[in-house]
Amino acid sequence: MEIQVPAPVEQIIEQLNCCGYEACAVGGCVRDSLLGRTPGDWDITTSAHPNQVKALFRRTVDTGIAHGTVTVMVDKVGYEVTTYRIDGEYEDGRHPKEVEFTPDLLQDLKRRDFTINAMAYSRKTGMVDAFGGMEDLKAGVIRCVGNPIDRFTEDALRILRALRFSAQLGFEIEPETYEAIKIMAPNLKQISRERILVELTKLLLSEHPERIQMVYHTGMAPYISDTFGRVHLPLPVISPELPAKKHLRWAAFLQNEAEADAALILKQLKSDNDTINRTRILTRFAKASLPPEKAALRRVMSQMTPELYDDLLLLKESRQEELSQVRRLTEEIRRAGDCLSLKSLAVGGQDLMDAGIQPGKAVGEALNCLLELVFNHPEYNEKEILIQYALRKKPEALQQ
Ligand code: ATP
Ligand code: MG
Repeated sequence: MEIQVPAPVEQIIEQLNCCGYEACAVGGCVRDSLLGRTPGDWDITTSAHPNQVKALFRRTVDTGIAHGTVTVMVDKVGYEVTTYRIDGEYEDGRHPKEVEFTPDLLQDLKRRDFTINAMAYSRKTGMVDAFGGMEDLKAGVIRCVGNPIDRFTEDALRILRALRFSAQLGFEIEPETYEAIKIMAPNLKQISRERILVELTKLLLSEHPERIQMVYHTGMAPYISDTFGRVHLPLPVISPELPAKKHLRWAAFLQNEAEADAALILKQLKSDNDTINRTRILTRFAKASLPPEKAALRRVMSQMTPELYDDLLLLKESRQEELSQVRRLTEEIRRAGDCLSLKSLAVGGQDLMDAGIQPGKAVGEALNCLLELVFNHPEYNEKEILIQYALRKKPEALQQ
């Protein structure tokens, strides 16, 4: 069995071989190549020690010297070259207390999480598959290398990785591995929220976002966070047709939660604020009805960016809402360039003050009234009309 290795990877392996070291492509890149998927990055495993790797290449970066990893730069692309290692005892289910280098490739493959991730390849060695990775790849199975209870005890992140790979590859989790996940779920408490977020986001962005259900079926949800454990079940349908954008997939998952709860779940997982805010807006409006009526649509459009509004329509359509009328009206609103925000209102605060409105709170209130007016009558968005309206109508707030 051969795979196509990019030229720089080939060069790095050959260079190491020339100096008497073993070297192979390993892990995800081998797995993805065998599946006909394009690998995200290429990792190399070698018998050479980090200082020996550094001595051989012109440009290197000490990415994780303590763990045996040196990044070799070729044409501005980095390739991680890691020394064969045996992970020592895990201190706290998170970090190996120490790593021990080994001259034996098989030892290095044995420490890897799943059989499909434990294959190595080079032109010289061919496929090195000591744990039945090929067979599992063909059968579409996620299976731990060795005893699953032991492997999840060493590192509980693997529990989530199993789900994530299952969703990305459309693979089933082998029964013994799945049982071990259920038993070991409480150990997720040891894993940092940031790392949990990374895995869950990859799962949601995959071709099988609905497999987030496994987080509940396996009983791991309460160990992710208390809020996560309280999500309404059954989960909503999460369509794999939705574009793979973080906020959109998270909102699809959390659409039945109150917006504050959705935001809290993401905040507790240390999500970035941008994703939290977008998800919050989508979960809020996903539940509200979107009437096929222009003024109402302008009001909704004014609450978010055009891109987010488009995402909202997709999310609603994935819930089988019929929006062809809404889409047509949206198109008309956009084509007409209707005013959708204070920024594009034909008057600003200064204009109103120049016209005699008291500076202060009244100005803001008047602007909001005018915006509301313009949502209903976009043709009124002209300076003279709006000023007259503001003066003539004299809402309560303007009368002091
Ligand atoms: P992708 O990069 O597509 O997410 P990957 O398989 O390359 O998938 P990485 O996290 O980049 O995953 O890790 C590279 C390899 O390192 C894996 O294929 C696996 O062999 C090993 N590995 C990564 N994390 C662990 C872990 N927690 N326990 C054991 N082995 C691991
Ligand atoms: Mg990788």
